[in-house]
Amino acid sequence: MHHLLLAALQEVVSKDIKQRGSNITEERLRIDFMCDHKLTDEEKKKVEDLVNEKIKEHLNVVRREMPLAEAEKLGAQMEFGAKYPEVVSVYFIEDEKGSQFSKEFCGGPHVSNTSELGHFKIQKEEAVAQGIRRIKAILE
Ligand SMILES: [Zn+2]
Repeated sequence: MHHLLLAALQEVVSKDIKQRGSNITEERLRIDFMCDHKLTDEEKKKVEDLVNEKIKEHLNVVRREMPLAEAEKLGAQMEFGAKYPEVVSVYFIEDEKGSQFSKEFCGGPHVSNTSELGHFKIQKEEAVAQGIRRIKAILE
């Protein structure tokens, strides 16, 4: 799902990557993100591998409601340019010990454990505008 993808992009490509929009169903996802270059085949492979590794780790997906200011203080990922209410839902993807791979503002809903997801595969990575790239991926 998209939280794993964004976190993987940040780990593999650049920690500065920000999401610019998304379109998600159960079987496929599409996210737009700010990035200054076309992803290399190696980067795409690493992103896929990392997402699949996290799926296999059976991480918990936990939703917590909190004031916007608190979520910002935690450094939760938010969509660039989006407006948020005063109380927001933040989804944490974490292991049993509470070590977090991802924390992100989102309306959800989502699976409660990454083990419910299929095998993640990037189908397409393309430019949609100057400095903005789009990834289309599936969970099969
Ligand atoms: Zn989400």
